[in-house]
Amino acid sequence: MALIKCTECGRELSDKAAACPGCGAPIPQPSLVPQKPGSSIGASWLTVIALASAGVVLAVWCIRFWLDARAGT
Ligand SMILES: [Zn+2]
Repeated sequence: MALIKCTECGRELSDKAAACPGCGAPIPQPSLVPQKPGSSIGASWLTVIALASAGVVLAVWCIRFWLDARAGT
């Protein structure tokens, strides 16, 4: 059993406690703390979208360049 400090009032309490006995603030349990599932997935999706957009722009630019070259000759 270890003592941790309450994030709200700074009181030392057991890490087994579900809530701070001084102020009632819930104690975060390391194994139960959610990993914010949306953040990392959202970041990876933003990367995918950014890469896809860059690819589309590059493809359109290449096609236009190719068509202009064809029209020019
Ligand atoms: Zn507290």
